[in-house]
Amino acid sequence: MLLTAAALTAVSDRSAPVLGQASEAGAAEARVVTKPRIVWKPVPFGATRKAQMAAYCKRHYGQRSWRLKPKLIVLHFTAGGNWRSTWNYFSNNVADPEFHELPGPAAHFIIDKDGTIYQLVGTRVRTRHCYGLNHVAIGIEFVQEANGGVLWADRQILDRKKQVKAGLRLVRWLQKKYRIRTTQVIGHSMATRSKYYKDLLGRRSAHGDWQYSSVKVFRARLKRLN
Ligand SMILES: [Zn+2]
Repeated sequence: MLLTAAALTAVSDRSAPVLGQASEAGAAEARVVTKPRIVWKPVPFGATRKAQMAAYCKRHYGQRSWRLKPKLIVLHFTAGGNWRSTWNYFSNNVADPEFHELPGPAAHFIIDKDGTIYQLVGTRVRTRHCYGLNHVAIGIEFVQEANGGVLWADRQILDRKKQVKAGLRLVRWLQKKYRIRTTQVIGHSMATRSKYYKDLLGRRSAHGDWQYSSVKVFRARLKRLN
């Protein structure tokens, strides 16, 4: 959700489509996954914020680094606001309300209800969107209110054709780019059950966005995408 998890990544790679692995066993043809249209709206992430991120990673994961090698993708929703208010929050670099740490939260991407994909941070840069997984995860925020509950909110996104299609195409492209399996596309609510979950301080941070049942629907649609 917005208050703790939003990591936006900037994809600097403007290159051609990413060639996928051969699909079915024995099938020779390689899938071509086209990069979706992404609007680059970077939040400030200069030397100071990178140093804050490296120090954060040292405290929580034992390694002083801000560099990301993505191993999984975490889905979020904003629980209110719009893409601009979310961007502003991530841009401000203020300590989060839950643990009062810096750098401030940010996700790599925000997907608006109309299907516009905004990228805020490069995908080679770690950012704070998912406690316990910030050292390995790309974060994607869908603009969505949560007043009807988390399952209701997930469903609104899944039923919003343009927004969810943009999300599916973005995730599929990131999967190919970084060789991320569909089982490693997870919801924020599933974070603590991930094999990558790590926190040297022994904390757990519970969030409800993207329940497992909703992620299963998203994964099934990913598989049908191409
Ligand atoms: Zn979240």
